[in-house]
Amino acid sequence: MSAGHIDGPRAATQDAARALFADLTGRAPDGVWSAPGRVNLIGEHTDYNEGFVLPFAIPHRTFAAVGTRKDDRVRVASTFADSAVEVSLDELGSLFPTAAGSAPSVPEWAAYPLGVAWALQRSGTAGRGVDIAIASDVPVGAGLSSSAAIESATASALDDLWDAGLDRTALARIGRSAENEAVGAPTGIMDQMASMRGEVDAAIFLDCRTLEAQLVPVGIAEAGLAILVIDTRVEHAHSTGGYGERRASCERGAAIMGVPSLRDVSVDDLERASTLMDDVTFRRVRHVVTENQRVLDTVRVLREDGARAIGDLLVASHASMRDDFEISVPELDTAVEAALAAGAIGARMTGGGFGGAAIALIEQEAVAAVSDAVTAAFAASDFTEPHLFTVTPSAGARRDA
Ligand code: ADP
Ligand code: MG
Repeated sequence: MSAGHIDGPRAATQDAARALFADLTGRAPDGVWSAPGRVNLIGEHTDYNEGFVLPFAIPHRTFAAVGTRKDDRVRVASTFADSAVEVSLDELGSLFPTAAGSAPSVPEWAAYPLGVAWALQRSGTAGRGVDIAIASDVPVGAGLSSSAAIESATASALDDLWDAGLDRTALARIGRSAENEAVGAPTGIMDQMASMRGEVDAAIFLDCRTLEAQLVPVGIAEAGLAILVIDTRVEHAHSTGGYGERRASCERGAAIMGVPSLRDVSVDDLERASTLMDDVTFRRVRHVVTENQRVLDTVRVLREDGARAIGDLLVASHASMRDDFEISVPELDTAVEAALAAGAIGARMTGGGFGGAAIALIEQEAVAAVSDAVTAAFAASDFTEPHLFTVTPSAGARRDA
């Protein structure tokens, strides 16, 4: 039953980007670049608190077929959108940054690639006219960071075609600028770093204060394990709602503790914190502080004991997001509970919350059984049927052709 819902990235996606480019321009692109979505193994809402995260890039990728033009115009098209959007390079500066709280003055999807072009120009790179055609097999709005994938694919392409010569971390910052200032979504740097710097079989242990990144081998397949993604199909939206509220609570908590960010609060400080702030703010703080510790513990356990030993940390992370940070939804809780009941080693919601996806660490031979159990639990609750697929840590942004 559920086997029909397990699928992988479509090999045809690169061809779709090329075909769209040909439709748009009548010629072949100068090159094709791609960048992956990501799953966060652990470390949620810690990035903007200058803490630790442990994401990995997934096999699903966004492809950008790009060619330079003779004039100074930038045209973007996506298989997701009915029509292309075209502006001049000069105009980008008047479109962005988007005023706080207001929508971009181009269709929102176009603000991602155009925002990247704008941020690159602002960083001192001279732009040239380009046509950009985008196709993707990263599920959109599922918490798997289709946004970072489109930003990183575009940033990699323009870095090459505009001879910007930026390193991967600098390109991740360009992507974040586009998302924060052109789209107006107040997200951290984790997604772009994972998409830019991912490597096969490794997670990226990222210190979001220094942007220092270490690759941590995860050895999932080697241990006979798999990571099942359970996309609840409940769409989250970053630019609205609870995400901004949670950020504000974290800033308030840090201010009350007299530190620049919650990175500077340790588990031992929590007792004192509880006496200084209201209950809601305290629980938000407690999530971030304990989650930072769980990331450090996960890295240590992965190195010392391997992937099979991190299950309890994943489960504790989910409980903290559900109870303290209050960003889970019934579909995510159901996914996690059903997976664990069917024998998963660990499971947690992943991404910003309020919808999106959960991950479950399971035995390879349990993929079908756990998938069936989750699908059945969703049916029993009258939830929309979830989308299930397995992922392995995969390569980051690259030029494909
Ligand atoms: P997530 O990153 O979890 O998928 P976001 O809300 O951060 O969700 O980003 C999703 C948005 O990114 C989409 O609504 C769309 O505007 C843009 N986007 C992502 N992929 C594409 C694509 N292939 N083509 C056009 N826009 C895209
Ligand atoms: Mg996103």
